[in-house]
Amino acid sequence: MTLPEGVKYAVIGAGVHGLSTAYHLAAALRASGRGSGEDILVVDKTAVAAGASGIACGVVRNNYFQPAMRELMAHSVDVWESDAEAYSYHPVGYMQISPECMHKDVASIYEQQKAIGYESVFIEGAEDSAKYMKGLFDDWQAKGITSVLHEKRGGYANNRASMHGLAAKAENEGVRILPGVEVLDFEFGSNSGAVTALNTNHGRIACETVIVGVGPWVNKIWNLLELPKTITVKDLKGKVHADVPMWKFWCLEEGTLGVDPDMHRMNDGRFPPVLHVDTDAPLYSDRDGRLITDRLWGIYYKPDFSFGGVQGGASPYKVDQDPDRVAIDPYGPESPEFVVGDDFIDMWCSALAHCQKRFEGQMPLYKREENSGGLGCFTPDNFPVFDTFRENVYVIADSNHGYKMIGVGKLVAQELLGEKSALLEPFRFARFAKGELHPTSHSPFPWS
Ligand SMILES: Cc1cc2nc3c(=O)[nH]c(=O)nc-3n(C[C@H](O)[C@H](O)[C@H](O)COP(=O)(O)OP(=O)(O)OC[C@H]3O[C@@H](n4cnc5c(N)ncnc54)[C@H](O)[C@@H]3O)c2cc1C
Repeated sequence: MTLPEGVKYAVIGAGVHGLSTAYHLAAALRASGRGSGEDILVVDKTAVAAGASGIACGVVRNNYFQPAMRELMAHSVDVWESDAEAYSYHPVGYMQISPECMHKDVASIYEQQKAIGYESVFIEGAEDSAKYMKGLFDDWQAKGITSVLHEKRGGYANNRASMHGLAAKAENEGVRILPGVEVLDFEFGSNSGAVTALNTNHGRIACETVIVGVGPWVNKIWNLLELPKTITVKDLKGKVHADVPMWKFWCLEEGTLGVDPDMHRMNDGRFPPVLHVDTDAPLYSDRDGRLITDRLWGIYYKPDFSFGGVQGGASPYKVDQDPDRVAIDPYGPESPEFVVGDDFIDMWCSALAHCQKRFEGQMPLYKREENSGGLGCFTPDNFPVFDTFRENVYVIADSNHGYKMIGVGKLVAQELLGEKSALLEPFRFARFAKGELHPTSHSPFPWS
């Protein structure tokens, strides 16, 4: 393989952020007459979609308790909608179905969606919520629900197809994407901290600007950039915490019930929105009636032909290990350690049956033969960091929120060309020291 000796922009990682940045940067360079896609090289140690973007459930939603996240998501939904075909995007909408302990949080999300013009419907009260849900699905039976937020935009996209669509758009702009090229090390300038070259398994590439979009591998690249392993965090109450690890891992638990996706249609015959259900009603096993949990639990699901069934997931679990020791490779379904097991299958299939009668007794159809789930790497407050380090390294670390954030690359491209983005401003690294953290909700998920 022949590597270029030098490039203006070197992008590490061919997932959603690396590819979206490369594509939008190429288009912006061309439009402004300042260059073209030929100034950009994307390297990936494996291939397009080899990371989290290639295994993501693919849910695209606005539903976030944090105002800055909501505004950013609305921007990303615009990007998904701009070329639904190339991005393999299904604009079926999204529903957050919640118990009383989340009612206030979700009401405020609805109010703020109205304020930013993001179309949604909010139903309150147990009776009205049940009526609304039965109007969509006559077998609806979830318990403990007192509000329903129905986002009319959003939905889901097919993970690998969307990444290949994005890669094709970048290549059409002249971007070069090189699979099988792993960044092993950086060279730093002698008079500055800037990165002057990437050392890869195929040789050296000199570069002027580096864009890092390496998803769950961010801790490794962070270490190579000699950035701090622990940081100081001022919390929302003003209390200062020293030596907080910069990165931690959670394992996402997802899977597919191998039914015909057509069985999960609405009363009117259309495909449904992505459903996310949280409740504090006790959950009993659909296999043997045993109590699985009497604490707040949550699941999400959708019919999905590319997964070949009804696909979705539940809350992730924390990986209680030193981040430098977590075995990220082999990643995703290939991992011997971070794939779902029997507990997830029992919980998720039972939860589906708790929500809709059509799923009762279907657990044996769960696709056990296909491994699923995967690692995500999170920041101290579980929200993204989009910032420049060492003068010329733009790090896109989405804290595992990011398949839906296809628009971030467009904003990063804008910043690389010198125009600051107000939407990215709340996600700077300095927020940890300044105590400008994002508010937290009552959701059982670390990403809501
Ligand atoms: C199971 C699961 C389900 C998810 N579901 C959703 C969802 O429904 N909706 C949502 O919004 N988000 C979801 N996420 C989160 C989302 O997938 C990630 O936040 C997002 O895809 C990260 O994108 P990325 O471009 O940063 O990284 P990735 O897609 O992980 O891509 C990083 C790439 O970098 C490459 N790389 C790594 N190190 C190097 C190196 N040293 N040199 C060269 N290349 C390197 C890798 O090979 C990889 O291809 C999910 C995550 C998981 C794990």
